[in-house]
Amino acid sequence: MSTTYAYAATDAQSKLAPFEFQRRDLREHDVQMEVLFCGVCHSDLHQARNEWKNTIFPVVPGHEIVGRVTNVGSQVTKYKVGQLVGVGCLVDSCRTCPSCQEGLEQYCENGFVGTYNGNDRQTGAVTYGGYSTQLVVDEDFVLRVPENLDPAGVAPLLCAGITLYSPLRTWGAGPGKKVGIVGLGGLGHMGVKLAHAMGAHVVLFTTSASKIEDAKRLGADEVVISKNPAEMEAHLNSFDLIVSTVAAQHDLNPFISLLKRDGTLTLVGAPEHDHPSPQVFNLIMKRRRLAGSLIGGIAETQEMLDFCGKHGITSDIEMIQMQQINEAYERMLKSDVKYRFVIDLDSLRK
Ligand code: NAP
Ligand code: ZN
Ligand code: ZN
Repeated sequence: MSTTYAYAATDAQSKLAPFEFQRRDLREHDVQMEVLFCGVCHSDLHQARNEWKNTIFPVVPGHEIVGRVTNVGSQVTKYKVGQLVGVGCLVDSCRTCPSCQEGLEQYCENGFVGTYNGNDRQTGAVTYGGYSTQLVVDEDFVLRVPENLDPAGVAPLLCAGITLYSPLRTWGAGPGKKVGIVGLGGLGHMGVKLAHAMGAHVVLFTTSASKIEDAKRLGADEVVISKNPAEMEAHLNSFDLIVSTVAAQHDLNPFISLLKRDGTLTLVGAPEHDHPSPQVFNLIMKRRRLAGSLIGGIAETQEMLDFCGKHGITSDIEMIQMQQINEAYERMLKSDVKYRFVIDLDSLRK
């Protein structure tokens, strides 16, 4: 066992505060790493405040992790001490169900093990995430980090990146396709970069007029202020795919109306309260689809990292110390992040 320093929430109302615990001894297939950087996902905030009503307290959030390998178990073949590695939202799954067999561990029919707020499959112990100095993870759930990329900017790819990459691939974003991304936050800004790199015509929908120039710099061909009905109407019946990252309850109808026949609105934002049901006729009349998507499997996450390495894509980040996390959460709630907070874990080692 090794002593680990972290930040945890002890109940839904408290701020995150220093917390100490023991990481498990290495199993045969385990990789131990020093956590260098950890991105701050809106899911961390939902979970710390028990907005999804399933938080096990104390909770140590963090699932956008880049670290350096410090030790490996006796049977580890994929990683060596000193290597730069990544860990995302998953640390285990049953590995035998049809979804796991297809490499879709995020849809494991027996329940995947989350990097935090999960239960270890062998001991039942609660998992603690990347707001911590070190991590122990089975090698099958560890990712290779492209060496040409800035490691701090890679951290957010492990959740924000893959959560957009997967639906963009699933619904065929590419040349000749008109793709909308709703919300320019952590997930949304990765969606703009990735869809642009895939060759799609990218339209960013935002509620923040101040983000227009940034959206264009990040790769959007057009920017629409979604609160402005005239700007929305100009795009009626024209999208192949819209991916919504919005972290709050809202009306879906104005976005569904923008889909062409057979177009799809895919929800990845996971608000505390459900969106009201959209109008049925708006879907029926054009065979439009409303869908959802959850992060991505391990193989697809590696594919995404390699894609980002090839295209030189990382997240636009604002580096913070662990001690600034509560302030960062408040700013995230005001959509005041450009475009992902990343924690420098050296701040916990001092
Ligand atoms: P974020 O950085 O806070 O970005 C969310 C963006 O949504 C904001 O920047 C804002 O963009 C827009 N927005 C916020 N409130 C809004 C409102 N009331 N109406 C309209 N737009 C609003 O959050 P994130 O980390 O990207 O996460 C987004 C959501 O995805 C969260 O719910 C998170 O839990 C979820 N998530 C899901 C998955 C998955 O696998 N499905 C994975 C990770 C995260 P503008 O200022 O541009 O309007
Ligand atoms: Zn996340
Ligand atoms: Zn499974």
